[in-house]
Amino acid sequence: MKRRSFLAAPAILAPALPGFAPGPTMETRIVRLNLQHTWTTTMSSSAYRDTLHVSYARDGVTGHGEGAPIVRYHEDAAQAREAVESVRGMLLERNPMQFAKLMAEVFRRVPGQWAGKAAIDIALMDWVGQKLGIPLYTYFGLDPQDTPLTTFSIGIDTPEITRQKTSEAADFPILKVKVGLETDEPTIEAVRSVTSKPLRVDANEGWKDKEEAVRKINWLEKHGVEFIEQPLPAEMIEETRWVRSRVHIPVIADEACQRASDIPKLKDAFDGVNIKLDKSGGILEAYRMIQIAKALGMKTMLGCMISSSVSVTAAAHLSPLVDYADLDGNLLIANDPFHGVKVEKGKLILPARPGLGLTPA
Ligand code: MG
Repeated sequence: MKRRSFLAAPAILAPALPGFAPGPTMETRIVRLNLQHTWTTTMSSSAYRDTLHVSYARDGVTGHGEGAPIVRYHEDAAQAREAVESVRGMLLERNPMQFAKLMAEVFRRVPGQWAGKAAIDIALMDWVGQKLGIPLYTYFGLDPQDTPLTTFSIGIDTPEITRQKTSEAADFPILKVKVGLETDEPTIEAVRSVTSKPLRVDANEGWKDKEEAVRKINWLEKHGVEFIEQPLPAEMIEETRWVRSRVHIPVIADEACQRASDIPKLKDAFDGVNIKLDKSGGILEAYRMIQIAKALGMKTMLGCMISSSVSVTAAAHLSPLVDYADLDGNLLIANDPFHGVKVEKGKLILPARPGLGLTPA
């Protein structure tokens, strides 16, 4: 046998014996999540999203992770999978209880691919929580009663469908409405024809100059809007500072704020930051971001991409720390492979089981 095939076939040469725990394993797979409604924002329009799922098994415990790579950040599921596979050897060799050291090494070795890193981090943290026998919120010292209400998101659509989606969201006390195309006023009017509940509005970088942004936000202020998310393109930080001084609702950074190192420069241009595991590279970096934003006196929000209950539940475990939550990505899909966090009249209900607390759907 050549050396190469000898190395490729350890399982054949060393079969698992009764009484011996099998070695650690890791699986990566791309899961196609079908959307209930075609999802349109300023960035794209899609009927499905592919996310990367990672499962990490060791000592009879399996941790699940997920990352949702999106075009906005030049990532896709195949690249995310390659990135995770590139550190497979290290992940299987090292001690997962040293997860912070391990993730720091993953961050050093893997350029970009933040959704792929998030999938690894979430799988490890789920494994660690299960191994310790505690839910992740307990690991972080949090009270599950402190979860905020989550908004339910209404993507960009015709006024008729927007009215229908708003009616379907009757159980949610706060809605998040996507704007930023030519149809902003008709969209808000369609929502307002159905409900008077508080709205949060996300422009997804859709307005291209500061005067337009001020005009639109001043109009939204008269329609019961609590805050505006990412009114201008991410790089227009100075212009956003100008906008912020002329409007009366908080301005929240999303695309302008990916990781902890982005936050200090946003301090006076934005009132708060929208933190997502798929941008930060996982739970550990998201936790750091929450602490840094708070230390700078900024509002904190946890958001998500279109993803399954794996990623959304992971973010929800940190949600007792934040002011706002927009954790509804799993509610927008039709084929969620897991049950995890639940929503009752907008309130996030965390599972009390160890780790993420997921069960198969
Ligand atoms: Mg956003």
